[in-house]
Amino acid sequence: MPTIQPIDILVVGAGPAGSRAAAAAAREGAAALLVDTKSRIGEQPHCGEYVPARLFAEANLDRSTAMQPVDYMETRVVGSRQPSLEVRSDSPGNDGCSKRTTEPDPTVKETLTVTTSSFPGFIIDRVRFDRDLARAAAAQGATVLCSTRLVRREHDAWILKSGKDEMTVTPRFVIAADGAASTVAALLGLAPPDYLRGVQAEVPLTRPLKGTLIFLDRDFVGGYGWLFPKGATANVGLGVAVAHDAHPGALLEELLGRLLQEGLISPGKLARSSGLIPVSGMRPELTRGNVILCGDAAGLTHPITGAGIPQAIFSGDLAGRYAVEALRKGNQQPLDEYGEEVRSWYGGVIGHAAAKRGVMMQLWRHEDFPRVCEETWIGFKGYKSRVSGGKRRSRG
Ligand SMILES: Cc1cc2nc3c(=O)[nH]c(=O)nc-3n(C[C@H](O)[C@H](O)[C@H](O)COP(=O)(O)OP(=O)(O)OC[C@H]3O[C@@H](n4cnc5c(N)ncnc54)[C@H](O)[C@@H]3O)c2cc1C
Repeated sequence: MPTIQPIDILVVGAGPAGSRAAAAAAREGAAALLVDTKSRIGEQPHCGEYVPARLFAEANLDRSTAMQPVDYMETRVVGSRQPSLEVRSDSPGNDGCSKRTTEPDPTVKETLTVTTSSFPGFIIDRVRFDRDLARAAAAQGATVLCSTRLVRREHDAWILKSGKDEMTVTPRFVIAADGAASTVAALLGLAPPDYLRGVQAEVPLTRPLKGTLIFLDRDFVGGYGWLFPKGATANVGLGVAVAHDAHPGALLEELLGRLLQEGLISPGKLARSSGLIPVSGMRPELTRGNVILCGDAAGLTHPITGAGIPQAIFSGDLAGRYAVEALRKGNQQPLDEYGEEVRSWYGGVIGHAAAKRGVMMQLWRHEDFPRVCEETWIGFKGYKSRVSGGKRRSRG
């Protein structure tokens, strides 16, 4: 185990949140240590790899990790049509929404509703994306250690493990950027959130696609399926609520079978991955003592879409900056300001999504599933309707 100089800030987790936090802290002159349990940072990403187009400019990121642009999101509500169920289509307004219906056949799953909305973004190479961010942190002067896991805490001491070796560090501040199943949050005694289990395969496409496809299917309880194109291949995946004991692997095979039959994809898989997506919304506590939570560890993932890369990046930036301010001031007051700033950025948009999720889960088994989707999925106009107590803000 290498000898570590005394450190100011320990950053746990070198995903987008942690690497940006460590870079921000080191840039301001703090001695920052960034650790990740992975042997190669960025490897085995569990991610659809979609980011909004504006992210590169807003976060000052190199565009070379973008594999392909996408313009739109086609949302398909999928199911077995009930004889009594009227087919719905999102009415085509002047915003590019389209309309299509299919012949009824109650024995097979079919598309009940389709709507298309503008969804400018990029499908990125997430391995390179995460590794580039960790390299940027190192370039700013942070010490980056792979194969190093936070295992426990003993009062002010945090115990890291690499292989059989243990190392104790006593940082002034700790940034929890260790993702959905945060060890730091568990060590602080914070309750785990509700999760979706996401499973995904990279598969060959039969033709290039310029947009993303979303599949809303009653069998994908509390979640949805996706196809995100990246040149000659696509990430096809789905998320289902862990609490509902679904079998995401089997559901993914079924989805892949339908896409194969439709002629969108070719047989074979280039990669498989799975991971947890926290969907309870922002944690009530974003800091505790000398610890700051950011990214997925802070519950900043969108409770309906599961997207969390932009929030991880921006909250990581803020966590690093406020930790340094706290170091300079010699007190923890800047940590409260961190919480307030994150809430002012994301409280509205995540709060609204969490409220919509509550409605969605309550109505999941409602006979008119397309109607439920129209009220709760971001591709439909009904998503914007207010749920009592829900507030909305920008920057999601
Ligand atoms: C299947 C799936 C698809 C997704 N698709 C998208 C998408 O298309 N677009 C989008 O915006 N978001 C997507 N997300 C969500 C997105 O991946 C996360 O929101 C994002 O990665 C959060 O970044 P983070 O830095 O907070 O955490 P992470 O990226 O999860 O990074 C946390 C890091 O902490 C490390 N770590 C964990 N515990 C420890 C420990 N004890 N000690 C040391 N290191 C530790 C992990 O190895 C990991 O590298 C998806 C998630 C899943 C599961």
